[in-house]
Amino acid sequence: MAKRILIVEDELKIVRTVQLYLEQAGYSVAWATDGTNGLAAFRQENPALVLLDLNLPGELDGLDVCRALRRDSNVPVIMLTARSEEVDRLIGLELGADDYMTKPFSPREVVARVRAVLRRSEQADSAPELIEVSGIRADVQRRAVTVAGAPVTLTANEFDLLIAFMRAPGRVFTRAQLLEATQDTTYEGYERTIDQHVKNLRHKIEPDPREPRYLLTVRSVGYKFTED
Ligand code: CA
Repeated sequence: MAKRILIVEDELKIVRTVQLYLEQAGYSVAWATDGTNGLAAFRQENPALVLLDLNLPGELDGLDVCRALRRDSNVPVIMLTARSEEVDRLIGLELGADDYMTKPFSPREVVARVRAVLRRSEQADSAPELIEVSGIRADVQRRAVTVAGAPVTLTANEFDLLIAFMRAPGRVFTRAQLLEATQDTTYEGYERTIDQHVKNLRHKIEPDPREPRYLLTVRSVGYKFTED
């Protein structure tokens, strides 16, 4: 069955073009032109991925929609933003968007991103793999993480980063290496993207995010996972 992609975007020209390319690539497409209808469509259509415009008309903008989605779903979200919305897209990442694309983008690029993000979120190793370091337990196949026994909800990027860290406790990663771990190689401002993902991760796994115990900053180089 074709995977369903939900497009929430008020510019119909973009909706139609992206829909066309996605359908040609074998996906099925649902769409909505504002946030309220977007959330309704999400519940109805149960899409595998959401393409979410940041600047939507009506009561809910893209950030509101992303926040609402993240309350009870790990669905991959790719935000669609304009150049001038730099600050907002960082907030989007903070809210757990997996990726974002800056307008104008080519519909081919959208299809490539959709494919990459889906592959990442669905990646299941054939053999189950459990990694446990210092009370954090990750089930690689199920992409499930617990901290001291309590489940935490991570986005695809956050999960990929955590796994890269946990597979090599004590190894110092540069931001470029971490970017590779997320397979998000296309974004030009990656340093801040990684910093944002690490910040999000800390909020989810650290007892005190201001005094990290697991995810340590290595000044002027990058980050490492504790060896203890
Ligand atoms: Ca818009």
